[in-house]
Amino acid sequence: MSDVSDPVRFELSPEEIPRRWYNLAADLPHPIPPPLNPATRKPVGPEDLAPIFPRALIGQEVSTERYINIPEEVREAYALLHRPSGLQRAVHLEAYLRTPARILFKREDLSPTGSHKPNTAFAQAYYNREEGVERLVTETGAGQWGSALALAARHFGLGCRVFMVRASFDQKPYRKHVMRLYGADVAPSPSSLTRFGEGLLAEAPGHPGSLGIAISEALEYTVTHPGSKYALGSVLNHVMLHQSVIGLELLEQLRRNDLHPDAYIGCVGGGSNFAGFSYPAIGEALRRGDSKTEFVAAEPAAVPSMTRGRYEYDFGDTAQMTPLLKMHTLGAAFLPPPIHAGGLRYHGVAPSLSLLVDAGIVRPVAYEQESCFEAGRIFAQTEGIVPAPESTHAIRATIDRALAAKRSGERATIVFNLSGHGLLDLEGYAEHLARVPTPLPLPEEAPLASA
Ligand SMILES: *Cc1c(COP(=O)(O)O)cnc(C)c1O
Repeated sequence: MSDVSDPVRFELSPEEIPRRWYNLAADLPHPIPPPLNPATRKPVGPEDLAPIFPRALIGQEVSTERYINIPEEVREAYALLHRPSGLQRAVHLEAYLRTPARILFKREDLSPTGSHKPNTAFAQAYYNREEGVERLVTETGAGQWGSALALAARHFGLGCRVFMVRASFDQKPYRKHVMRLYGADVAPSPSSLTRFGEGLLAEAPGHPGSLGIAISEALEYTVTHPGSKYALGSVLNHVMLHQSVIGLELLEQLRRNDLHPDAYIGCVGGGSNFAGFSYPAIGEALRRGDSKTEFVAAEPAAVPSMTRGRYEYDFGDTAQMTPLLKMHTLGAAFLPPPIHAGGLRYHGVAPSLSLLVDAGIVRPVAYEQESCFEAGRIFAQTEGIVPAPESTHAIRATIDRALAAKRSGERATIVFNLSGHGLLDLEGYAEHLARVPTPLPLPEEAPLASA
């Protein structure tokens, strides 16, 4: 057990919110392959993207500048979002695992909507307002992105239209209420608001929808409604850029406390929380020529884009309306199984992350849902926080790494990103609890320290 005088929380003050975002493109071994126009197979130009994104974000999408200034209004909004987020030490999890490893985690669960997603939602809403846009249009799976964008749109005085995957709309009502509380218009997708949605509903009236379908609807709605622009919550370079606020804060928190992680771990849906958390550290490692630090990206075994997908150009959506992106993908037609980590149910991952996986800089791992809920339960019972089902993938990988350190007797430092809390996603935990005993078992591998 650690000494009580050891610090367990490493905080920064609001004045220390980073003044600029970090762009990994400046430090990559090769340029990120550009998005291609599917008809011509030529790189898409800014004019192709102008109907859906504001100029400033298109500029960030292709920028190779290492740093990009964060507008002061966005920094102010970050303060309202509880930034800088805390870095915390999981002393009780360490004790439970009886590992000599030190486990730290970054608290993205403490934002008002309960995840990292507002970090980019607020930046995107700001640039859209600056360019006179009146309404933001988007899709959402389980609702984390939709609620983040709904709040950001409200903050900057914009309207917000959300297409929510119908299966979630019907089965996970709480985030729908959150979005509507923030003033957004929420429709189940497929919907009759678009021709694509109408077509699908004509074939199958109760169609459960998917993220790829909802993206197609949001894009169609955007281009047919003047004054609207589209906002995407992951995958694209400008999203990874905005999320870098997480990793920049983290580097400062580590530096001040003389902490040197051996491993950085995050979960991956489209890649944005992992990127934001790890890219500033990956950039440092690339510049130093350090290949020892581990960067581990955890995904669900049911949606194995990084571990089983192909690295090739593919569409981002089901209707094949988006440009082609070079990424690890299961195919745009892949219908993800209904796992509880809704935020991880996407067929591809960010082109920048795909490049890092391909170059062997990031190591992908895949975990079964049940072993992730088990890790989530251990975390809840040791640290008191109910993690988002998505985040449990990072916790599972962290526990495995800490147990490896225990076997080798290594005093490793492991840091993971707690991308969100799970207080609005309890169905999966309920099913998990129905299968396993409620009290924490005492696994042979990891008896309680006090036992
Ligand atoms: C959306 C979400 C994810 C997955 O998306 P990324 O872009 O890969 O970060 C992970 N965790 C939480 C809590 C989410 O809401």
